[in-house]
Amino acid sequence: MATFNRVVLASRPTGPVVLENFRLETAPVPTCGEGQVLVRIHYLSLDPYMRGRMNEGKSYAPAQALNETMVGGTVGEVVQSRHDKFKFGDKVVGMAGWQEYQRVDAAERGVLQRVDTTHIPLPAYLGVVGMPGVTAWYGLKKIIAPKAGDTVVVSAASGAVGGVVGQMAKTQGCRAVGIAGGKAKCDYVVKELGLDACVDYKSARDSKELYAMLKAETPDGVDGYFENVGGEILDTVMRRMNAFSRIAFCGMIAGYDGQPIPMKNPSLILVNRMKMEGFIVYEHREVWPQALRELGGWVAAGKIKYRETIAQGLENAPQAFIGLLRGANFGKQLVKLI
Ligand code: NDP
Repeated sequence: MATFNRVVLASRPTGPVVLENFRLETAPVPTCGEGQVLVRIHYLSLDPYMRGRMNEGKSYAPAQALNETMVGGTVGEVVQSRHDKFKFGDKVVGMAGWQEYQRVDAAERGVLQRVDTTHIPLPAYLGVVGMPGVTAWYGLKKIIAPKAGDTVVVSAASGAVGGVVGQMAKTQGCRAVGIAGGKAKCDYVVKELGLDACVDYKSARDSKELYAMLKAETPDGVDGYFENVGGEILDTVMRRMNAFSRIAFCGMIAGYDGQPIPMKNPSLILVNRMKMEGFIVYEHREVWPQALRELGGWVAAGKIKYRETIAQGLENAPQAFIGLLRGANFGKQLVKLI
């Protein structure tokens, strides 16, 4: 009997994620019943939100169940179909999770989307023309809403979300400044993505030096900040925010392992009459068609660049995920399954 592999959540982390939190399992490849489609997964997306799902407790989404396949976005190819909406060979985006095959009821709304790979490579639908791209689009356009001449700062600037934010800010006539960890990432942000500057937070000896570095690159202060990190980086950017500035709270990865990340100067929100708004991209389905159309157009035309870090084989997904949470990825983190 043909079998396939999947990765389940074996235990919940009590701090940083460890390999023992996962278990690789083997299962028989399912066959399709009436109305069903079998997809062979080509790429799995690894995303920081998965860390939150590994915890129990109140959040914006239910916790990942123990002993169940880890959740996650995927792209693949239809290898069996008993539904007239999909045919053999169709390329599709879905949420198969960390596994090599997925059988779905094709009539279920939103479970599988066929995509066109003529001008956009299949894995890009998990990054720049997928959920991370729409996240960047929403936070920048709908919350920060920058005008030409504004200064926009983005943290985790070389990443899947941050890389799109910075480039979009540039196309809107802003001064765009990234914050990223390490010289290689900062060089990429400026030389490849075309941002005006990038602050390497890892090269700062202390918070005073980090502030001085950011100040040097934001001489007119900051009008919009796209927050992916939290903690000391947020505190530093807060001190550069202008009157009536906006912060899009997208992620707080510095605290995902449970570290406390208090905000040191909340009084600046009042003093600067700031708007701060958190958002979850899946709650803004109304913008997805427009955002994906625009992002797809920019990528197909080579106007938006992106980078991927690709781990090989499902068995390496846990290690790649641990790496993502420590900043070992450079651009969108994927796992290639075939
Ligand atoms: P990235 O590709 O940016 O990868 C994560 C990056 O975060 C790492 O490469 C690293 O970059 C940085 N990082 C990790 N740990 C720390 C730390 N302790 N302090 C500072 N930086 C750290 O991931 P994504 O682009 O997929 O996601 C970016 C953020 O957006 C995350 O916070 C994620 O949770 C959030 N998000 C939110 C969504 C929403 O709907 N609100 C949807 C999608 C993502 P570096 O080496 O530069 O430090």
